[in-house]
Amino acid sequence: MIIEDFYEYIIALCFIFLVIVFILRYCLAQYKKNLISFIQLNTNIMLLSTKDKIISMNKVGLDFFGYSSLEELTAEHISISDFFIETENCINKHTYGKKWLEKISKNPKGNHTVNIRGEMDIVSQFFYIKVSKMRYNDTYLIGLNNISNLIREKEEIRTIADHDALTHIYNRVKFNSMFTQIIDNSLRYNENFSIILFDIDHFKNVNDTYGHNVGDRVLIELVSLVRIGVRDKDVFARWGGEEFVILCKRTSLRQAESLATRLRKDIKDYTFEVVKKLTCSFGVSQFHIEDSKNDLFQRVDEALYEAKDRGRNQVVIK
Ligand code: GH3
Ligand code: MG
Ligand code: MG
Repeated sequence: MIIEDFYEYIIALCFIFLVIVFILRYCLAQYKKNLISFIQLNTNIMLLSTKDKIISMNKVGLDFFGYSSLEELTAEHISISDFFIETENCINKHTYGKKWLEKISKNPKGNHTVNIRGEMDIVSQFFYIKVSKMRYNDTYLIGLNNISNLIREKEEIRTIADHDALTHIYNRVKFNSMFTQIIDNSLRYNENFSIILFDIDHFKNVNDTYGHNVGDRVLIELVSLVRIGVRDKDVFARWGGEEFVILCKRTSLRQAESLATRLRKDIKDYTFEVVKKLTCSFGVSQFHIEDSKNDLFQRVDEALYEAKDRGRNQVVIK
């Protein structure tokens, strides 16, 4: 009798256990179904992935990567990180190693960016990547929010802010920020550099004789001409009005003087569209360790003033 009761008790327990397992499995299946519906409804690229492999991706994502089904995608790519292009300030598959999903999910407020090229893209696109750890099966919900337009706009604003609107070379503000950095580097690595400041001779006459528009055109032509003679690593900027500055990295006073002499000659020999002939005066100086930013500019300014004073179309070193 006791034994029979015991068996009934065990059978009842097994039955209850099976019912619980069934309910749990059902709930889990529903949960997964809801998640998949959720990612499908989203207009961003969304996917579900374990630590090692993609388990679901919405249509937006499949279309972006150029696959018609999840099976087709996973036959070629196990992890979404396969698509991340190595780019400065972006996460790639080596950034956090195998624990990259875990790392990102633990920092939900961080702006983690990835660079991906879609099937139809000529240039790659930037996305914020958000990762959320789900409660079952070590699954992660991953969302990719396209921020390419935002980044492009930011770059455009920065370009406008850093460049002179007329000649498109750096403006004084940008030059000053680069100059401070170059002085720091020069002191740290004991590298010399020199500055060339030059100014168009009698430019007021150009405006007075031909008008402001022709004056503007001359400034553009002059910049194109000088640009050819300046190395890529040098910083060429419009200092203001018809005055320009060239910062020559790793350049001695003598080397800068010979560059200025060559530029002076190139300008003198060049035939401008309307005004035909034009000259410039040049001041040249080299950075000394004990110099402040102002000391160097004061010297090069004095040199330019002296070049004007000596009759213009001259190079003076100081
Ligand atoms: P100097 O040989 O002593 O340098 O004589 P200058 O006539 O070149 O010097 P000044 O400083 O008297 O005149 C500079 C002129 O440059 C005055 C100003 O109207 C003109 N200028 C400054 N910026 C621009 C610009 O963006 N476009 C035009 N067209 N003219 C400009
Ligand atoms: Mg002038
Ligand atoms: Mg001037």
